[in-house]
Amino acid sequence: MKCLECKCSIYQDVYNYSVYNFNVPLCRAHQNWIKNHVATDDAIQLYFLLKENGVPAELEKFDGYKSVDIVIEAAKVHIEVDGGHHNYDKRQALADLKRTFHSFRRGYITLRIPNSLIRSHAFETADYITDFLELNHKRQANKSFSLSNLFKRL
Ligand SMILES: [Zn+2]
Repeated sequence: MKCLECKCSIYQDVYNYSVYNFNVPLCRAHQNWIKNHVATDDAIQLYFLLKENGVPAELEKFDGYKSVDIVIEAAKVHIEVDGGHHNYDKRQALADLKRTFHSFRRGYITLRIPNSLIRSHAFETADYITDFLELNHKRQANKSFSLSNLFKRL
């Protein structure tokens, strides 16, 4: 049995306690880490599902301007888990678009995931994001995909 976060070996009782309380196996240090984390429960759930899928995700990472819910540095992908106000608050929606633009300018794609989606389809959401990252990875490896090609087709 291993901690999902640091891969260290954990005892059966630590494993049982962690799965019961956090739904995932974590060592004692990482149980404390996640207990005191500022991320929302929805962002944490998505983060752990991505980790279980083998995605090298990082939780709550500062990008130089603000904290991003989940970052996959290798793929240059930001994931923001948004509450309802990101939709119906126009100022928030515009601020989000600006953030997406500034991240994109620095080479990062932002996926905005409504928290309602995680609450209703958590596994499917994590699996689609994992597929998205794999596809993105393959395309970059093949060099068959470039933004200039994309824009020519539009
Ligand atoms: Zn750990």
